[in-house]
Amino acid sequence: MNIHEYQAKEILRAHGVPVPPGEVATTPDEAERIAAGYGGMVVVKAQVHAGGRGKAGGVKLANDAAEAREQAEAILGMQIKELTVEKVLITPAEDIDTEAYLGIVMDRGSQSDVIMVSSEGGIDIEEVAATNPDAIQKMAVDARYGLLPHQASALAYGLYSEPKLARQAARIIAQLYDAYRAAGCTLAEINPLIATPAGEVKAIDAKMNIDDNALFRIPDVEAMRDESAEDPAERKAREAGLSYIQLDGDVGCCVNGAGLAMATMDLVKHYGGEPANFLDIGGSSNPDKVVTAFEIITSDPNVKSILFNIFGGITRCDDVANGIVEATRRIDLKLPIAIRLTGTNEDLAVEILKENGFEAMTDMDEVVKRAVELAAGPSS
Ligand code: GDP
Ligand code: MN
Repeated sequence: MNIHEYQAKEILRAHGVPVPPGEVATTPDEAERIAAGYGGMVVVKAQVHAGGRGKAGGVKLANDAAEAREQAEAILGMQIKELTVEKVLITPAEDIDTEAYLGIVMDRGSQSDVIMVSSEGGIDIEEVAATNPDAIQKMAVDARYGLLPHQASALAYGLYSEPKLARQAARIIAQLYDAYRAAGCTLAEINPLIATPAGEVKAIDAKMNIDDNALFRIPDVEAMRDESAEDPAERKAREAGLSYIQLDGDVGCCVNGAGLAMATMDLVKHYGGEPANFLDIGGSSNPDKVVTAFEIITSDPNVKSILFNIFGGITRCDDVANGIVEATRRIDLKLPIAIRLTGTNEDLAVEILKENGFEAMTDMDEVVKRAVELAAGPSS
C-alpha cells in the first residue's frame, strides 16, 4: 500500500524526525486559508502516489496566501503520471543550504533492510543512481541487532562532514529506521533531507510504501489508505479477494495458488516472454472470481495473450472452465487464450471448454510456450 507525503510525514513526526508543519487542502480556498495562517512563503505540493512531482510541476513555491491559492488552483486536478491530483499539502517554505538523500528499502538481494544515503539528494537522485552509483552509500542492517549507533553515525558522516549536522543526521537515520519498522514499510525515503543555512537538518519530503501483509498489525496505518489514489485494477482485485500485482509484460497470467503463480511467471520468462501480472485466483474458485480475474487482466492494455494455469486440488477445474466460458460470454474478448487445467474434474473441464470452442492443455511447459508465442503475435 502506498501513502501520501503528508501521511508519511505524520508517521515521521511521531518518531521524532524534524518535519516542518503542514496541512492538506482540497480546494484553492482552503489552500489560501492555510497559507494565510502560516504567513510568509509556503510550498504547495501535489499529493499523489508518484515521485518526480517537482519536475512535473506539482511542487510550487508561493510568496503569499494569494499566490498559494493560484498555485493550488493550477495543481489541483493536474495529472501526474496518470494520477489526478485531488489534494495539496501546504507547508511553510524552508531555506535550503544543501539537499541530501536518505532512504531505507527492504532488499530481497541481501535479505535485509538496506539504508542508503547520498549527499547528492534532491530531484535528480534517479540520475545520480544511474550515472554515479558510487555517490550513494549503502549499508545492510543485520536484523538480529537492529541499527547500531555507530552505523548510523558512519552513514551520517557520509552525508555531512560538519559534526553539528552529522549528529542530527545520525539521530534522523535512527528515527527513520524506527518509523520504517513500526509502520511495516518496504520503503521509506526522505528526499530531500535538507540542511538549512542556520545549521538545522530536516525532512521536507517523505515517501513510504507499506507491506500489505503488515497492515493487520497497524490499523492506524491501514486507515491511511486512500482508495481514490489507488490503481483501479488492484483495488478491484483486493475487493474480490484476488491477489493481483500489475507488471510490465504482455502475457496476462491467471493461476491458482501463489506458488504456482510464481512458477508460472518464472516459466514465462524462461520461454522469452514477460508476465503482465501476478494473479492468484485462490483456492475455491467459483466462476464469478474467474470472470473478475478476466476483467482485471483485460483492463491492462499491454496484455497480448492470456495464460490460464490451473492445478485443481480444492479448486475444481470444471468451475474454472465454466468461469472462462461465462467470462468470454460477458466480455467481448479479442485476446488469444492458452489454457492448462489439470487435477480435480479435469476431464469434465476439458469437455466444457471443447464444447465452447476452447482447447485445453495439460502440460505446463507447452501452455506457457504457447502463451508466449501468442503474445509475440503471428510474425514470430
Ligand atoms: P518530489 O519532486 O516529488 O520529490 O517533491 P519534493 O518534495 O522533493 O520537492 C521537489 C523539490 O522542491 C525539492 O528537491 C526542493 O528543491 C524543492 N522544495 C520543496 N520544498 C521546498 C521548500 O520548503 N523550500 C524550498 N526552497 N524548496 C523546496
Ligand atoms: Mn522528493
